[in-house]
Amino acid sequence: MSGERPAGSRGEEAPVSAPHPPTAPTTGSHRARFRRRPRRTDPSITVLWRRSEQANRRFATLFAGRLLVVGASLGAVLTVVLGIQEGFDTLTWYSNLGASTLGITWGLVYLLLPGPAPDPVLRATPAAAALLITVNMAMTHSNAADGMLLLTWPVLFAAYLLPPRTAYWTLATVVACLTVVLEAGTGPDRFAVWLETSASVALTLVVILQVRAQADRLKHVLAQQARTDPLTGLANRRAFDEALEREVARQRRTRAPLSLLAVDVDHFKLINDTWGHAAGDETLAALGELLPRLVRASDTVGRIGGEEFGVLLPDCPGTQAMDRADTLRAEVFAMSRAWAHPVTVSIGVATLPESADTMSDLMIAADLALYAAKESGRDRISAAPVRRRGVR
Ligand code: GH3
Ligand code: MG
Ligand code: MG
Repeated sequence: MSGERPAGSRGEEAPVSAPHPPTAPTTGSHRARFRRRPRRTDPSITVLWRRSEQANRRFATLFAGRLLVVGASLGAVLTVVLGIQEGFDTLTWYSNLGASTLGITWGLVYLLLPGPAPDPVLRATPAAAALLITVNMAMTHSNAADGMLLLTWPVLFAAYLLPPRTAYWTLATVVACLTVVLEAGTGPDRFAVWLETSASVALTLVVILQVRAQADRLKHVLAQQARTDPLTGLANRRAFDEALEREVARQRRTRAPLSLLAVDVDHFKLINDTWGHAAGDETLAALGELLPRLVRASDTVGRIGGEEFGVLLPDCPGTQAMDRADTLRAEVFAMSRAWAHPVTVSIGVATLPESADTMSDLMIAADLALYAAKESGRDRISAAPVRRRGVR
């Protein structure tokens, strides 16, 4: 293969292969088009997901804070009203007002925290709040349905904002708390109230978890769509950048070389101009179907621009990447002869750590190599020069 990287070609000019005659003359306008710095990448889906997790936990922390402040304040008011009406003994006064003060302080701490509460603390919050409510109710020997309804709030909170397993544990704690209230209560129909409250709390939990599961499925579908290019079905720019980020991190750990191919359709504009945009779309879709068949399952193919594709080859040194790029180029040439509008592609090849040190340098190196392939006549492949220094 004429485009093979010569062994030990450190710092040499990028080699270029030319197995087929160029399909059209080269224009000087490529310098501006390809010698651009890679776009500032959007945050990856993983990063967005992590951020939304953070945001969810922050929301849950603030929500718990408000519930605790409002609930404990209500508890304090109720204690005062009932205490004056029914003449609580000193221990009941102290324990109820103490529990209310604790609840308010706890809520205020959540509200004043600069970020989300730690995960285990947040998960334990509704069960702990249920215990606090139960202490109050047991001390006042409450058995009223409205008092028991106070205990539905921790379950609602857990069902909506915490993982399902935690929500079930919270339900178990709340049912245990209801049982304590039932035992400590004195009024009539306590068992019926206990049964009704426990059953409705459990059903509410199931309903909310179902609604959440449906919303999660929808979120998953939307996340998939956000990663996929609709025309070709390939990874879109965002998903490709995410894969690149992941593979670069893996390269740093394993030291196995990572190659990047920048693949650009030659004179694609001519197809659009001659046959219309639909013909161009059809060609891109055909490439979207063909390219993944030409690479390994562990490789990533993405559409990273209009008629530009990226191929990530993990664990693939530069020389091997040049071979694979040339196979890809030749296959596109051969297979597309059967298409309505045959195409050729030019490919720039760069490898970490041979030709770049960082992710963005790798992209620039592949881009510049692609530019060289275009300059040398198209339907070519070209390798980024091997760096003289800092080669690891
Ligand atoms: P070169 O060989 O130098 O790469 O030439 P080119 O014509 O392929 O490159 P140029 O950048 O001049 O044109 C790319 C064209 O791709 C221009 C743009 O309208 C077209 N394009 C970008 N996205 C799409 C798309 O989704 N569908 C279609 N049909 N055309 C697209
Ligand atoms: Mg092009
Ligand atoms: Mg292009």
